[in-house]
Amino acid sequence: MQKLTLALVAHDAKKGDMADFVAMHEDAIRPFALFATGTTGGRVMERCPSLSVTRLKSGPLGGDQQIGAMIAEGRIDALFFFVDPLSPHPHDVDVKALMRLALVYNIPMALNRATAERLIASFAS
Ligand code: PGA
Repeated sequence: MQKLTLALVAHDAKKGDMADFVAMHEDAIRPFALFATGTTGGRVMERCPSLSVTRLKSGPLGGDQQIGAMIAEGRIDALFFFVDPLSPHPHDVDVKALMRLALVYNIPMALNRATAERLIASFAS
């Protein structure tokens, strides 16, 4: 059976949260294929060295758009995108585009940790 694929993205202020989230659910997440924007992926791998994460470009350099393209191609099963709503982002248009594609293709999308906890629990069951 094809592995389900999760995409991980976190804004700078939320990267610690993302690394904690993945570490806390490492066993549940291990069976999935993992893709992440560059810096987020680096932080997750630092925290969970035994997980294999495919790192794309950094978000501001096109990583969000790469994940968006994967969603459009039907290659992403769920998006975990920890958004910092209190800081401006130079790549805000890319952020919006990524969220839009997740909506267009009806991909489960967790934009904060509370939703992520519930979403990952639903995959485990
Ligand atoms: P990053 O990208 O993981 O490379 O920082 C995330 C983002 O879109 O800000």
